[in-house]
Amino acid sequence: MSKSLFETAIETLDRVAKMMNLEPNILAVLKEPERELKVAIPVMMDDGHIEVFTGYRVQHSSVRGPCKGGIRYHPDVTLDEVKGLATLMTFKCAVVNLPYGGAKGGIKCDPFKMSKRELENMTRRYTVMIMPIIGGRRDIPAPDVNTNPETMGWIMDTVSMFEGRTVLEIVTGKPPDLGGSCGRFEATGRGVMLSTIQTLKKKRCDPEKTTVAIQGFGNVGSIAAKLLAEKGCKIIAVSDVTGGLYNPKGLDLDSILKYIETSENHLLKGYQKKDTETITNEELFLLNVDVLIPAALENQITGKNASKVKAKFIVEGANGPTTTEADSILEEKGAIIVPDILANSGGVVVSYFEWVQGLQCFFWDVKQVNSNLEKIMTNAFDSIWALSEKEKTNLRNAAFMIALKRVGNALRERGIFP
Ligand code: NAD
Repeated sequence: MSKSLFETAIETLDRVAKMMNLEPNILAVLKEPERELKVAIPVMMDDGHIEVFTGYRVQHSSVRGPCKGGIRYHPDVTLDEVKGLATLMTFKCAVVNLPYGGAKGGIKCDPFKMSKRELENMTRRYTVMIMPIIGGRRDIPAPDVNTNPETMGWIMDTVSMFEGRTVLEIVTGKPPDLGGSCGRFEATGRGVMLSTIQTLKKKRCDPEKTTVAIQGFGNVGSIAAKLLAEKGCKIIAVSDVTGGLYNPKGLDLDSILKYIETSENHLLKGYQKKDTETITNEELFLLNVDVLIPAALENQITGKNASKVKAKFIVEGANGPTTTEADSILEEKGAIIVPDILANSGGVVVSYFEWVQGLQCFFWDVKQVNSNLEKIMTNAFDSIWALSEKEKTNLRNAAFMIALKRVGNALRERGIFP
């Protein structure tokens, strides 16, 4: 059985702390989330029965500022997964130097089997159950797998009803008409595109001659595909939970994106086009491509399939898609992995912009959002790349070294209360 996301995150922390000679006292604090909340969420279902869902909110660290992290709806959500994702958020925010700590939330449910009314009621009840620990200056949720701007709107409205005012800063990833930032919906995919293009630049590869395969065609994967195609890359395979599509000459992305606008649950299943074959998710990982972008869930590239992965560059759109075992196998093969805490940090960067705009009630245009995002991500990318060359280590270790130094410094400077 593969390790849980939390175990993998702790393994990474241990390894990097050793490389940096980090004091054991600092490491001990960072290995345990500050707060873990488990809630029972009763929902009156459409058929009249009450279903009690289990939800979590975990705050890993608030040492650098309010906790920040998304909310996931998925049948496989566990406390351990949420702890792992919350831990990654602390270091992701630190890597791009945002004044945030890390958190994550989740509800174990199958949103595809629920009506909109059931989903809204579950979201609103969950919001009330976690309200004692969230807040615009304490812990600010955002979208993740199977949650979206509409979900964030329900959370914002619920908190606003209790506070008797419109609380824009409680959540990010809101619809633009509800205080959302322009550019937020595309931000994570845009960051994945920027990380990919930076990597190609460093290795002197021409985007026009680069082939790409992407697992996961949701918010992150579909937007990364679209923006990389705009940069001239050839997207030869994409997939979602229903399977994948493959055309070695390049997929017709426009028609795929159009198809999922109206397909059942916005999934790829049923799409047909001349020269486009269907493949499995497993086959997608083994394709002869330059860039592989896992943008679905964790633990997808493992000790079992890593040795057969042919891509030279793996850009982690998802959180934790590569296990520690797979990391070593890929490194030995000479593959370059752009780690999740850098590659998918575009979402939290623009979430930060949204939070700042909401607090000031002063909104930016998309040009300002995108150029500030690019500046922050390019700086982070360059410093991680330079450190990895200086220390002769991989990008994941370098990214964690930078992040751990920032979080460690903050903890040392604050001291331990009381
Ligand atoms: P999403 O719900 O919009 O899309 C998820 C995609 O993955 C869908 O296409 C789904 O069909 C596919 N998928 C799910 N299970 C799968 C499986 N077993 N095999 C193949 N495909 C599968 O979610 P998202 O927001 O795009 O998030 C994807 C990943 O990116 C997650 O790891 C998430 O934590 C991470 N992430 C998201 C954001 C964000 O802003 N949304 C930010 C940072 C990181």
